Amino acid sequence: MIPTRKFQFFSFLFLGILLITFSVYLFNNATKSTKRFNGARAYQDVLNQVVFGPRTPESTAHANAIAYIRKELEKVNWNVQIQETEWQGFRIQNIIASRSELSPSIIIGAHYDSRILADQDTGVRQKEAVPGANDGASGVAVLLELARVIPYNTPPIEFIFFDAEDNGGIANRQWIMGSQAFVASLTNKPKSVVIVDMIGDSDLNICIETNSDSRLVSEIWSMAAKIGNEKYFIATPKYTILDDHIPFLEAGIPAVDIIDFDYPYWHTVADTSDKVSARSLEIVGNTLLAWLETQK
Ligand SMILES: [Zn+2]
Repeated sequence: MIPTRKFQFFSFLFLGILLITFSVYLFNNATKSTKRFNGARAYQDVLNQVVFGPRTPESTAHANAIAYIRKELEKVNWNVQIQETEWQGFRIQNIIASRSELSPSIIIGAHYDSRILADQDTGVRQKEAVPGANDGASGVAVLLELARVIPYNTPPIEFIFFDAEDNGGIANRQWIMGSQAFVASLTNKPKSVVIVDMIGDSDLNICIETNSDSRLVSEIWSMAAKIGNEKYFIATPKYTILDDHIPFLEAGIPAVDIIDFDYPYWHTVADTSDKVSARSLEIVGNTLLAWLETQK
């Protein structure tokens, strides 16, 4: 009988080890974020916005963009609010997404409107609206895909989709009106604000924007280098840009503008989806995701 008992003992031992191994495997999969930023899915968000037509103020395309952004966020359990306000006599509809009751310590923003006039184009085309595949839709796409994959254990985050960024100098409109209205209504100051704009160019070169907060520049550009993206996040200051980070900086809030301003189709009718690549969206998304995972 002893050999049988021995056999039973080893069978239980074997089963025990198997059970422990399986439990450890399940635990690891439950705690570790396995979601990755999907550039192809983000590129589809660009296509889905561009198909509405230029998202100029008061247009049907603009209303469709709001509905689309809201729907995509609600699908992945973000609470969405539209901040209905006005700035200098113009209607503003900022889209705010959160999933925490706490006030945000990190804000990630992009503008969703596009420009009424392609005034960097030539001749009669200057009277047409900008399709805004890169200037508008690409930033929104990165935010939407981040919202799908961001783990729950980060500090409280808010995504803001700013209205009325891109129509300065047209019919008494100013630039960055949506973010100015948003900052004017802020009650608590976040620790960090990251703006993404024009980051879908298939020839991606993101230099340092000179107004940007130096701590955030250092954190994000060094993370880009760490994960092998230093070719695209170039650690050289180049442009000084009036973008949605400025109202935050003026309010004493650290903010960075991640923008590739070397884009020959800027404010022309040629700012179309074929100039944007899934790969570029993924490089920016993965860099931000890796940076977010280091934030406490
Ligand atoms: Zn623009």
